Amino acid sequence: MLVPRLVIGLIRRSLHTTNVKNVGVFGEREGGEHALTSGELGDFKPGAFYPELPKDRKPTYIIVGAGSAGCVLANRLSADPNNLVVLIETGPKDHWWDWRIHMPGALMYNLCHDKYNWFYMTQAQKHMKDRVIYWPRGRVWGGSSALNAMVYVRGHPYDYDRWEKEGATNWSYKHCLPYFKKAETYELSTGPSDPYRGHDGPLHVTQGKCENPLHQAFIKAGEQHGIGITENMNGYRQEGLGPMDMNIKNGVRWSTSAAYLKPVLDRPNLITSYGILCTGLLFHKNQAIGIEFIRQKQTYMSSKLEPASREKIYCEGAVILAGGAINTPQLLMVSGVGPGKHIKVIIFVE
Ligand SMILES: Cc1cc2nc3c(=O)[nH]c(=O)nc-3n(C[C@H](O)[C@H](O)[C@H](O)COP(=O)(O)OP(=O)(O)OC[C@H]3O[C@@H](n4cnc5c(N)ncnc54)[C@H](O)[C@@H]3O)c2cc1C
Repeated sequence: MLVPRLVIGLIRRSLHTTNVKNVGVFGEREGGEHALTSGELGDFKPGAFYPELPKDRKPTYIIVGAGSAGCVLANRLSADPNNLVVLIETGPKDHWWDWRIHMPGALMYNLCHDKYNWFYMTQAQKHMKDRVIYWPRGRVWGGSSALNAMVYVRGHPYDYDRWEKEGATNWSYKHCLPYFKKAETYELSTGPSDPYRGHDGPLHVTQGKCENPLHQAFIKAGEQHGIGITENMNGYRQEGLGPMDMNIKNGVRWSTSAAYLKPVLDRPNLITSYGILCTGLLFHKNQAIGIEFIRQKQTYMSSKLEPASREKIYCEGAVILAGGAINTPQLLMVSGVGPGKHIKVIIFVE
């Protein structure tokens, strides 16, 4: 058993050298929100729903995409036991043992591999010497939050205030702040009286460590140049140099799957899936009433789509599109919603 022991030893060592704690490799898992749940075990295979769709009831909501937005919506909507929520994801699960997702230092791995990534390429860009630009997007539970750079930035308060002035009612920073706080557990929060930071929300935020003398020298140089310093980039003052806030908890990436989906997998009114590709929306007049989908046994981007019959699910409430900035418009367009001249091209190509 020398080889497996050697492999386990190497993985352990790589985790320790990147200061990952509590990641739960090979039985070292501790309990808490990230513990194994029935939804991760059992005979839940790609291309299936867990639990299976009921025959006697239509779901209240169908959410397309178990990414950053989809996981939050699945959590919040299934908090009401009267709702039956179905979450559709075409990519794989973010298995607890896959360090390529959970180890922050492994960030680049998923950007160079299509296991959890749509791996998009743009068309040749005329104004960039016809270069083709790589455009990564997450394709896994947690979506792009499972492979992004984990930087937590709320946006500048003045931007929110400007949006409200321009007509976006209730989007001022003052109005949004309680929601930011509700979502967050900030490791340096001073508790309920903290004016800016949350202390008991699902999304864990850790301040980046600036222990290297070069980090300190860099921040000091910014101060000397008049850029200024900020101790808390999501607090009173965003401008300036300072440590970044990261979606990390105890050295582990804190994707929206970890924050919002995994803790509620045992809710009986939440049906999850992976390896289910939504191929179109079903309408009654102008209202989306369901989706068309295919089941996939292989969930990699490069795996060939096996011939599969299109199945349908209808819902009573709403179909919620959370497929991301590229896939949601694509899904609308293949379903006949969008600029006429593009849709004609898509239908012609199909
Ligand atoms: C490499 C990279 C680094 C980034 N770094 C940062 C950062 O440091 N900080 C930051 O704030 N933001 C960062 N971002 C941006 C941020 O991650 C995204 O804006 C955010 O995750 C988008 O959320 P979303 O819910 O719109 O989509 P996603 O999180 O991408 O989720 C969409 C999900 O829908 C699924 N899906 C799509 N179409 C279908 C379909 N037809 N059927 C079934 N499932 C489908 C996808 O597989 C995916 O899982 C980064 C993004 C990338 C790609």
